[in-house]
Amino acid sequence: MSKRKNMENENYLLKTYAKKQSLFTHGKNATLFSSDEEEYIDFTSGIGVVSVGHGNKRLSRALSEQSEKLLHLSNLYLNPLQASLAKKISALAGFDLGVFFANSGAEANEGAIKLARKYGNKAKKRYKIITLENSFHGRTLSTLKATGQESFHAQDFAPFVDGFCFVKDIDAMIKACDERTVAYMIELVQGEGGVNPLSKEKVQELARFCAKHDILLIVDEVQTGVFRTGEFLCSQVYGIEPDIITLAKGLGGGVPIGAVLTKHKDIFSPGDHGSTFGGGFLVSCAGLEVLDILEDLQKSGALDESIEYFHRKLKELASEFEFFQSIQGVGLMQGIKCSSSIEVGDLVNKAHENKLLVLKAGLNTLRFLPPLSITKEEIDEGFKRLRKACYEII
Ligand SMILES: *Cc1c(COP(=O)(O)O)cnc(C)c1O
Repeated sequence: MSKRKNMENENYLLKTYAKKQSLFTHGKNATLFSSDEEEYIDFTSGIGVVSVGHGNKRLSRALSEQSEKLLHLSNLYLNPLQASLAKKISALAGFDLGVFFANSGAEANEGAIKLARKYGNKAKKRYKIITLENSFHGRTLSTLKATGQESFHAQDFAPFVDGFCFVKDIDAMIKACDERTVAYMIELVQGEGGVNPLSKEKVQELARFCAKHDILLIVDEVQTGVFRTGEFLCSQVYGIEPDIITLAKGLGGGVPIGAVLTKHKDIFSPGDHGSTFGGGFLVSCAGLEVLDILEDLQKSGALDESIEYFHRKLKELASEFEFFQSIQGVGLMQGIKCSSSIEVGDLVNKAHENKLLVLKAGLNTLRFLPPLSITKEEIDEGFKRLRKACYEII
């Protein structure tokens, strides 16, 4: 389709996004090709989704073969792919977990919230869930309320779901715990909020507090999960075994899948929760293949090498420009905090002009979420373009 024709069709979409005007037609690993035959380097992987790279042959073959057998059957019948994926997730996590499959991050978090509510309401009326400032948990009415940023609680969408509050840090979380509190929900590295890793010691302290006081710890790993931080779970990097973990973004390599993982396998009974599409044959097949690909990448040492190399390039670049203040992140989830002398949105646009896709997070953080399969050459090329963009905005 021509770009002009497409622009006409865009008018039929609701205006919920400000979009860049490039029309991408296909991709290969961390390289994207546009309709005007330009090559772009992708340091975003569709906001951390395309974990195995664009046009991944192993994934596309698995999907194509599965699509000829069965796409979907509903959750009223056995689905061996779904069960294998759940087993695989539990094995990779390294502790015994039950899994519920949803279709997105927000939906996985909804499932986690329901699980916590049922746990808390069973014995006594405990329903309160405490979250952190600058967190992001999704766009549904309850996950918006769980999101610790006032800008997401606009009265345009009121009334929201009750029973959430957010506080400044982990000390404040512990202090805010009362007889109505059932759970804490955190991201170990806040993504949308500005790529802010929490302190490992503080997180472990919170986990100990939870265990002692029968409070559930929910870790939203929608962005940090599925090898993004070098380990299958960021919780493994932090040395904790949360009560509930949610996954989504990178798990399907581009097909929509979300998952609620929990140690508490007997809270939900039949009828408590459900999803028409969740964990269908196609997405479960994708999840299994993605995990195989990423496990190979990790075991071969290639993932660690890419993380190290990306970080080295990031440090080199950051030291060259005064407006770059600090690098923060874990694994291939990285950000550079910028000073107020530049507008990160402008830098993202300038990078785009130089055919590099990068993201903005928080107020002034340049964010990187490349495919986990990115090559050295792609990293080099991307940083070359970013350096040029930096020179062009100062
Ligand atoms: C992206 C994200 C979500 C929301 O995921 P959707 O699939 O867009 O619903 C929730 N939590 C975190 C930490 C995220 O990064």
